Amino acid sequence: MLETPMNRPALPTEIARRRTFAIISHPDAGKTTLTEKFLLFGGAIQMAGQVRAKGEARRTRSDFMKLEQDRGISVSASAMSFDFDKYRFNLVDTPGHSDFSEDTYRTLTAVDAAIMVIDGAKGVESQTRKLFEVCRLRDLPILTFCNKMDRESRDTFEIIDEIQENLAIDVAPASWPIGMGRDFIGAYDLLHDRLEIMDRADRNKVAESIAITGLDDPKLAEHVPAEQLAKLRDELEMARELLPAFDRQAFLEGHMTPIWFGSAINSFGVKELMRGIGDYGPEPQPQKAAEREILPEESKVTGFVFKVQANMDPKHRDRVAFVRLASGHFARGMKLLHVRSKKPMAVSNPVLFLAADRELAEEAWAGDIIGIPNHGQLRIGDALTEGEALRFTGIPSFAPELLQTVRAGDPMKAKHLEKALMQFAEEGAAKVFKPAIGSGFIVGVVGALQFDVLASRIEIEYSLPVRFESSQFTSARWVTGPKADVEKFVNANKGHIANDHDGDIVYLTRLQWDIDRIIRDHPSLKLSATKEMM
Ligand code: GDP
Repeated sequence: MLETPMNRPALPTEIARRRTFAIISHPDAGKTTLTEKFLLFGGAIQMAGQVRAKGEARRTRSDFMKLEQDRGISVSASAMSFDFDKYRFNLVDTPGHSDFSEDTYRTLTAVDAAIMVIDGAKGVESQTRKLFEVCRLRDLPILTFCNKMDRESRDTFEIIDEIQENLAIDVAPASWPIGMGRDFIGAYDLLHDRLEIMDRADRNKVAESIAITGLDDPKLAEHVPAEQLAKLRDELEMARELLPAFDRQAFLEGHMTPIWFGSAINSFGVKELMRGIGDYGPEPQPQKAAEREILPEESKVTGFVFKVQANMDPKHRDRVAFVRLASGHFARGMKLLHVRSKKPMAVSNPVLFLAADRELAEEAWAGDIIGIPNHGQLRIGDALTEGEALRFTGIPSFAPELLQTVRAGDPMKAKHLEKALMQFAEEGAAKVFKPAIGSGFIVGVVGALQFDVLASRIEIEYSLPVRFESSQFTSARWVTGPKADVEKFVNANKGHIANDHDGDIVYLTRLQWDIDRIIRDHPSLKLSATKEMM
């Protein structure tokens, strides 16, 4: 069912079969388990359990630490590609912790859809709601997977109601659970009139699928105990009256979410969900640039960097820039224009992330995510094109809300600290300011947990213990304007001036009053709380 929505011409088959998405959930709902099953059914890993084995040991740490420690494998988990049916899936990982949302926001700019995983016993949780709101800002289509149906869970109508009420989105059941907890036997596939029976004996086995001809088919009684069957019929009748039927257009526009009920750990409902993404999910979508809209079917290659990751391989101090291809057909070795520096760049060793392995990408199409190893030239927000000067929009920049001074435990190691901080600044993990007067650095973040994450990464990746201390400043503003005016301002305010990692000028203060005064007294200067990515 590869149809193009609305009135655009059909996409080339290779592009039309791509599905680029992320999974959003509250910690513990089952994102990792579901990812693992996707990879299993996508043929990317042999046996489920590979992702889990490493996961278990990190349970006690915060969600983000877990991700960080996982670098060896979860880097590949940052973007993974696999085939299923006739589709090519690109799954982009979203870091889970609420205090580290910058990365998550940016990640969601690179996908066309999201899967929302909820725990059948817990319903919509805080983190789910936050991530959902981010998706809504972008009108991303969302598919819902209600997990852990093998455990005591809430009543099906109650779950659906809660999503509708809490998230203000229509919910259309794609499947309907039969029983719950110990009595959970499977689900009725409403989109294909099939019965899916769960195999409890073998967790990696795919459910038995029985085609039936509707709810009156006598075959139903052979597989579903009488009492449960009566309940199923009643519930489905009620559902038909009370709930909307699945409407693909409403789903693609972000007004409706289809919901599947299953159990990731038992591999149940996962394939149906995958088919759902494939058959109904959006094809690669047009991307916005300041100059114009970029259509995936355009023949020339364009793409943008949405994430930079350093130290993926501790042996090589390389960084990998993750690029979402917005258009065209990319082939290895292509020379692309790096728009920000106006320099050509030969992309000779791009990587596609296939499960746990990095593989050289020989080719890629609009919708794909490729990793480009580089030495720091590629930054978040950068555009790569075949010559056109494009500036992709929609990748948000965040105002640093918390500032702290950072010092190396060993003062002799100040240079190492600088290097580490520059790396994190380039990754977009923090803003780093070097004050014009005095020593040390000031680090700006959005959530307090980021300080812990940075301290831990600097210690692990650079063997450098550091201390974060409260700073005399609480706000940062980027200063731009006519060169002479900026210089004059800098010279008169040296004690408040710092440079960010690009050398751009920042004014630091603890008083909003200061900022208001400058705006009043220096009409030629612009003070911004966020820095444009380019
Ligand atoms: P994440 O934090 O969202 O990545 O969640 P995980 O995938 O790590 O799962 C959290 C816990 O729930 C783990 O102990 C899983 O084994 C368990 N879990 C995941 N899916 C299911 C399921 O379908 N049924 C049950 N009973 N447990 C599950």
